[in-house]
Amino acid sequence: AVRVRFCPSPTGNPHVGLVRTALFNWAYARHHGGTFVFRIEDTDAARDSEESYEQLLDAMRWLGFGWDEGPEVGGPYAPYRQSRRMDLYRDVAQQLVESGHAYHCYCTTEELETRRAAARAAGRPSGYDGHCRTLTPEQAEDYRAEGRTAIIRFRMPDETITFTDLVRGELSFAPEHVSDYGIVRANGAPLYTLVNPVDDALMDITHVLRGEDLLSSTPRQIALYRALIELGRAKRVPSFGHLPYVMGEGNKKLSKRDPQSSLNLYRERGFLPSGLLNYLSLLGWSLAPDRDVFTVDEMVAAFDLANVNPNPARFDLKKAEAINADHIRMLDVKAFIESCEPWLKAPYAPWAPQDFDRAAFEAIAPLAQTRVTVLSDITANVDFLFLPEPVDDEASWAKAMKEGAADLLRTARANLAALGGDDWHAEALKAAVLAAGEAHGLKLGKAQAPVRVAVTGRTVGLPLFESLEVLGRERTLSRVDAAIA
Ligand code: GLU
Repeated sequence: AVRVRFCPSPTGNPHVGLVRTALFNWAYARHHGGTFVFRIEDTDAARDSEESYEQLLDAMRWLGFGWDEGPEVGGPYAPYRQSRRMDLYRDVAQQLVESGHAYHCYCTTEELETRRAAARAAGRPSGYDGHCRTLTPEQAEDYRAEGRTAIIRFRMPDETITFTDLVRGELSFAPEHVSDYGIVRANGAPLYTLVNPVDDALMDITHVLRGEDLLSSTPRQIALYRALIELGRAKRVPSFGHLPYVMGEGNKKLSKRDPQSSLNLYRERGFLPSGLLNYLSLLGWSLAPDRDVFTVDEMVAAFDLANVNPNPARFDLKKAEAINADHIRMLDVKAFIESCEPWLKAPYAPWAPQDFDRAAFEAIAPLAQTRVTVLSDITANVDFLFLPEPVDDEASWAKAMKEGAADLLRTARANLAALGGDDWHAEALKAAVLAAGEAHGLKLGKAQAPVRVAVTGRTVGLPLFESLEVLGRERTLSRVDAAIA
């Protein structure tokens, strides 16, 4: 059975690269009826935070990634926070040392630096040179007497490591390029290099899908797995698949620090989880050559690593927005209305809470649904209904209220006022403005521009006559009056 894991470190805010990794793992598990394990890699007390941990869980919930094992839900391999598993790592590290798969290394940082520089200068590989690989107990004793402390280093086998990457095919790493590496700090703190594969082994992970940036740790981890199998602590070496890099602006790798990569930004702007996931799935995968828009369920049904492209993917915000707009259109109106909720209140909405009129919003919502790209667009599209006055968008007023606008507005005002409350419908309103335009030799588009700005404060917005219908006769007329005055 497939068992995959998503194992972020709780540092900083969740970013889109992380979400892409979670998505591919989750979709793979769901497609195969497997298990999606959520593990928190919080062994770095200096960088990890509880706040970031909470944010990760919140993000996973928002995205709809239910996890089968992990924080809060538990599971057969609990605990799922590495900070609570320290005894296990200590135990495994000791076993690795006792069996000769790892050793104590007393080299100081300065010594390592000096020798690395010399190796580089001589054109030799600059990884660890094996200095402490074969220390005798007496040599070790001397080092300790000097006051040195030791890290634990894993002993790489002197052989080429070959594996078949699920995305990239067969890959080989020669021993001179993969040197012995640290797994436990001198203060006893276990490192990512140890805890990540140890937990993958103990949690019986079958497939490791992660970013290409981790490819260089894979031969190391495979060697560690083989040692763990020998020691009876792992069942198998998992399969590995490395997901392509995501490139941002200027063809540079999208980084966590890039503002475009913050998940919170997408949430605040009102991306739907389904729209964001649809877009992120395209960073390295495709459902079919001619299909960019699909639901999460369709993705799960079709998800296959054979369709993952090893080439770098380009992050394209415009495309993400366009896909999100399609997902907004795919909602039924009721769901759309509910999804808009956060942007109809503080801190997003500029109107007083008591001025919000739910019936008016529901009347206009279907028109807005086909026009917004992100849900936060809703606020500016409907604010004319709930603010006491139209917004004061200077550029709009300057653009629409040119020569002759006041005359046009006077005629339009008279035509509109001639309509009684019962006749206040979009069709009749349109006819009234059309007639006003004709009286001044203006086509409908030109005639409606000053009316729109007078009433909504903006040159662009929802279809005008439906908007006036919802706004109502009295408020429309008084806003036109105010614009003429
Ligand atoms: N905690 C690691 C990270 O955040 C996980 C890497 C992996 O998937 O092996 O990058």
